[in-house]
Amino acid sequence: MPGKLYIVATPIGNLRDITERALETLKTVDFIAAEDTRVTSKLLNHYSIKAPLISYYEHNKKEQGGKIISRILSGESCALVSDAGTPAISDPGEDLSRLAAESSIDVVPIPGPSAIITALSASGMKTGRFTFEGFLSTSRKSRSEHLNELIDEERTMVFYEAPHKLRKTLKDLFEALGDRPVCLARELTKLHEQFLRTTLSEAVSLYEETEPRGEYVLIVAGAEKKAPDAPGDVLPLVGERLKTGVTLSEAVKQISRETGAKKSELYRAALEKYKKQS
Ligand code: SAM
Repeated sequence: MPGKLYIVATPIGNLRDITERALETLKTVDFIAAEDTRVTSKLLNHYSIKAPLISYYEHNKKEQGGKIISRILSGESCALVSDAGTPAISDPGEDLSRLAAESSIDVVPIPGPSAIITALSASGMKTGRFTFEGFLSTSRKSRSEHLNELIDEERTMVFYEAPHKLRKTLKDLFEALGDRPVCLARELTKLHEQFLRTTLSEAVSLYEETEPRGEYVLIVAGAEKKAPDAPGDVLPLVGERLKTGVTLSEAVKQISRETGAKKSELYRAALEKYKKQS
C-alpha cells in the first residue's frame, strides 16, 4: 500500500498559528520534506516534534522529488512543509504535489495560514473577486508582458514581494497601471506587522526615503470598470461585421457583447444605417 503526501500549512510568522491537525500530522508521518530544514527545525523544536527531516527546495527538487515519490509508493508517509504558509503556493511544493497526483498518490491538504488570504482579509480592499499574481518575474520581458496583461484587470490583484525588490516593483506597478489604491501588508503575524493603505504613487515616494524591511504582500485595486461604448461609436464595427456575411441581428449581438454597447439601441441605429445591405 502506498503512503500519503500531506501538504501541511505552517505559520507565516507567529509560531502559534498552527492547527492541531498539522501538529498531529508532523508527529506521525515517517518523514518531513522541508524547504529549509533549519527553519522547520525551529518549529519542530518549539513543539517538541522529532521526525526525520529531508530537504526539498528549488535547486534539488528534480532529484529529490523522484526519491520522495518512491518512498511514498513503497509505503512511507510524508509531510511537505515550506518556510512559511501553505506549501505549493509560490514555492517548490507545487512540483511535488503534481508528481504525487500523477503517481496516483493520495495528496492530503492540512490547511492553515497563507500570506495571500491573511493579507487580503485585513486589507480593507475589495475581496469578492481577486487574482493571485505571485512574484513578478525578474526577466524584463516577462515582467513587462505580465504587467501589460494586467492593465485592464478589474479584479483586486495580489502580489508577493521580497524587501530588496520592493522599490522596483512599486515603480513598475505605478508605471504600468497608473495611480491606484494599494495596501502593503508587511511582516504579517509578526511583531512589526503593518498594513499601509495608500496609493501606488505615494508608496513609491515613501520607499524612496524608507528602507523596505520584511516580507510583503501587495494588494492592488483593479481597474475602474469601463463605461460601455455608445452605440454611435461602435456602429462602424457592425458594418465591418456585416461584411463577414452574418445577419444584421447577429452582427449587432456580437458587437454589443464585445463592446458592452446597449443591444436594443445599437440594433435601432444599425437598422437605420445598414438595412439595405443586410
Ligand atoms: N507558500 C507561502 C504562502 O502560503 O503564503 C508563500 C511562499 S513565498 C515563497 C514567500 C512570500 O510570501 C514572501 O516573499 C512574501 O511575499 C509572502 N509572505 C510570507 N510570509 C509573510 C509575512 N509574514 N508577511 C508578509 N508576507 C509574507
